[in-house]
Amino acid sequence: MKKIISTISGALFLFAISLPISIAKSAEFFSIGTGGPTGVYFQVGNAICKMVAKIQSAEHGRKKGTAKALRCSAPSTGGSTYNIGQIMQGELQFGVAQSDWQYHAYNGTRPDKVKPFNGLRAVFSAHPEPFQIITRKGSKIKDWNSLKGKKVNIGNPGSGQRGTFEVLMEAHGVDTGYFGSTSELTSSEQSGALCDKKIDAFGYTVGVPNAGVAQSTDGCGASIINLDTDAVKKLVADNPFYAFATIPKGTYKTSKKDVTTFGVMASVVTSEAVPEDLVYAVVKAVFENLDDFKKQHPAFANLNPKKMIVDGLSAPLHPGAVKYYKEKGLM
Ligand code: GLU
Repeated sequence: MKKIISTISGALFLFAISLPISIAKSAEFFSIGTGGPTGVYFQVGNAICKMVAKIQSAEHGRKKGTAKALRCSAPSTGGSTYNIGQIMQGELQFGVAQSDWQYHAYNGTRPDKVKPFNGLRAVFSAHPEPFQIITRKGSKIKDWNSLKGKKVNIGNPGSGQRGTFEVLMEAHGVDTGYFGSTSELTSSEQSGALCDKKIDAFGYTVGVPNAGVAQSTDGCGASIINLDTDAVKKLVADNPFYAFATIPKGTYKTSKKDVTTFGVMASVVTSEAVPEDLVYAVVKAVFENLDDFKKQHPAFANLNPKKMIVDGLSAPLHPGAVKYYKEKGLM
């Protein structure tokens, strides 16, 4: 009896120690940092995971047991600068980030806003993201100057729009004291706060159209102001990662005219420490399923492979991505 018990416990012990090892051998887990749950980054990250799962099940069917299974997750996060910081720490393997913060992280040019990280690597860029100031109906805000004295949400720390809003304030020679009060609500809180009249305006760098913006434009009559001051013109002229952007009339219920503002590109970034075969597999999944990707969100409709490997990328491309782009003749 004793022998049986010790044989069973020995077998259980062996099972217990072999389990994590066999899981570790057969699957590789990785995460893509996104943004708020109502943003477009969340759609980018989850679209990538879907494409990885799709290519994985096809490849696994072909060579059962040999390929390592990739397990991808794309959690909601604080946004661009948070993602870059977590990639630097090795907590995230990939992240979506605005092209301005990718530039500053890689070059170490705004250490006050994003941690310098020259190990940052570009993978590809996705959709354009205009910086938008959305104003409450009845707030009487028509342009940058009339934001003076108003209640403004400048975004949560860690988000791309927070940094870009601060850059915009600097460009106009003002600080938060210019406004009546400022708040740090997240992107999923700001539209509700605007409709509830807790704030008069919020700044958001996001792909178009966006469900969060629609909540305030279509939901409570908010509108997006033009941002084409001399200070904005100078920002665009002086920085390679900014460009003028148009939000076409008709985008939201209150979009009666085209809106002119400036914007960035959303880009997918990683670290030089992330293995080449993982980056290769992710890039392959995306570029071989680009039609699926385009269908996930209207902001992805114009994705063009040739532009995706150049536009908005200031950190060097990761070698795993370069390998795929060269194989496919894109480079
Ligand atoms: N651009 C925003 C940021 O960097 C996120 C936009 C989104 O979630 O789509 O925080």
